[in-house]
Amino acid sequence: MTSTENPKIILLAENDPALADRIKTRIQAETKLTVICAGDHAETLRLLSQYPQGIAVALAEYRLPGATDGDTVLEILSSNIPVVILKSIHDGGFRGRPASWLVVEHVLKEKPRAIEMAVAAVGRILRNRRTRVLVADSSPVAQETLSHLLAMHCYQVDSVSHVDQALEQLARHPDTRLAIVDINVAGLDGVSLVQKIRDSHPPDNMAVIGTSAIADNKIAARFIRNGANDFFIKKDFLPEEFFCRVNQCLDQLDRIASIRETAIRDHLTGLYNRRFFFDVGNKLFAHACRQNSPIACAVIDIDHFKQINDTFGHKAGDLVLRQVSGLFRARFRESDIVARIGGEEFCVLGLNMDEANAFRIFDQLRKTVAASQLDIGDSDPVRISISIGICALRLNSLEEMIQAADVNLYRAKSSGRNRVVIS
Ligand code: GH3
Ligand code: MG
Ligand code: MG
Repeated sequence: MTSTENPKIILLAENDPALADRIKTRIQAETKLTVICAGDHAETLRLLSQYPQGIAVALAEYRLPGATDGDTVLEILSSNIPVVILKSIHDGGFRGRPASWLVVEHVLKEKPRAIEMAVAAVGRILRNRRTRVLVADSSPVAQETLSHLLAMHCYQVDSVSHVDQALEQLARHPDTRLAIVDINVAGLDGVSLVQKIRDSHPPDNMAVIGTSAIADNKIAARFIRNGANDFFIKKDFLPEEFFCRVNQCLDQLDRIASIRETAIRDHLTGLYNRRFFFDVGNKLFAHACRQNSPIACAVIDIDHFKQINDTFGHKAGDLVLRQVSGLFRARFRESDIVARIGGEEFCVLGLNMDEANAFRIFDQLRKTVAASQLDIGDSDPVRISISIGICALRLNSLEEMIQAADVNLYRAKSSGRNRVVIS
């Protein structure tokens, strides 16, 4: 089962205009989606009927004017829309109420970080739409229950009953982020399936939650010892607990991804850093040699950049570096590597780029940079130029190619700057 709809509106039902305004501003800044607001129960109902398919998630106050406790939330839930409840300490609970499994989060308004929590909960639902989950369970009823719940929380769900199907699905969808594996899976037991999954899906890229219908701590231990991140007992099923476990697994994957991303990026420009350039560059160079395909390496240096710092200050210099990096990023393909390897020095590795193409592409880039007005804050925009040395001959190593490109860069500088020299 896969949820295919992609609603683009967020409903905010909150009576306090100042609070509503702060939440709306934050959500719009972070999600770029449209937020529609209602201040009471009747208005919420009107918006629900006006946008029957378009609402991705709602944030709703527990106690809105015109309704008794929780009624507005119930109306939204009955439209199958996930809800973040904004409530006060004195408001009642929601557990056991109809469709309460669609409640994404209960946010206590009195808490100092209430707005952040509400916005994060909305972000999680939107993240779910990009998140593929596999459910493997030999029981059709359990499979359907979990899949339905996950789909209602906007996950993309694949559900299977047999080990072979599970492995097939994972091979077909390598972007699967979470597998929920019951101890009973047809063809093999769930723990053995987890072992097989872990052979090709390390915990950095995919989370696994083991499940069983009954409470049995031996099963829990076997699952976790063999690679599951967590374990969930389906007896006395509490959706809130289930989603807490799911969210925690996915949050952890996000944290790992973000740490990885930080480690390979230059903090100022967002381009790749020197280490990534050499790590991946050497692999791509070896690949190009095996395939006998062309590869070009360019070293780019901003001309007289020190003058920008000296005249307008370091902050203006940073702004220039960011904007020039943006121009670089826009010029190259995803498969090329564009890195900042020093202060105002950059390296580009162009795959399948022969000499004629390399010259054309880098000379165009040089012209684009020279023609650009760069914003440096309070002063008038500035113009800069770049010099580029290219090596488009596949030499013995990436190192040698960079050295050759560097020699050409030196020639470009000494012959007047704002030019490209290639060999
Ligand atoms: P050339 O045309 O010969 O390359 O001259 P240049 O002034 O660009 O070269 P030089 O090597 O003399 O100066 C580079 C300057 O880059 C000096 C340094 O202060 C500045 N720089 C290096 N990293 C950063 C940074 O992160 N931010 C800013 N604002 N400036 C930086
Ligand atoms: Mg320079
Ligand atoms: Mg330099």
